Amino acid sequence: MAWVRLDDKRATNGKLRMAGFAARGLDEAAICWSAHEEDDGRISAEDVQMLAVMHGCRQWRRIVRRLVDVGKWDEVNGGYQINDFPPVRGDREPIPAWLRQEVIDRAGHVCQLCGGEVEPADVHIDHILPCSLGGRSVKHNLQVSHSRCNMSKGNRV
Ligand SMILES: [Zn+2]
Repeated sequence: MAWVRLDDKRATNGKLRMAGFAARGLDEAAICWSAHEEDDGRISAEDVQMLAVMHGCRQWRRIVRRLVDVGKWDEVNGGYQINDFPPVRGDREPIPAWLRQEVIDRAGHVCQLCGGEVEPADVHIDHILPCSLGGRSVKHNLQVSHSRCNMSKGNRV
């Protein structure tokens, strides 16, 4: 289980007030689901429907339309992007093996901190924005580095 952060302006947020209370509920369910799936604010149309049905929300298409109309969600290919997606806070999230491999495939064995070649056994996956500052284990926040380069970087961005 991870945590999502809801900011304290949410109670009076203009977009959400315009969208209505049911939309606020679906938005929150979608935020939690996307965080659970580590999708960085993306949610597929099927998952929106699944969440809506799970909550007995039959008018979900209309509610999604409202969230898009007020600019809380954007329509993207196959689903939606939740705007102002709140980052997970707190503990370091594990980096799944497939994600680690994707980051390595993108960078090759080149340290993104010093530009030097990294021995496969010394590959460290570095959080560009550190976990302690809300950085997440998602592809665009991860890079290949030497473990020593990562160590000397510490909590700096
Ligand atoms: Zn390095």
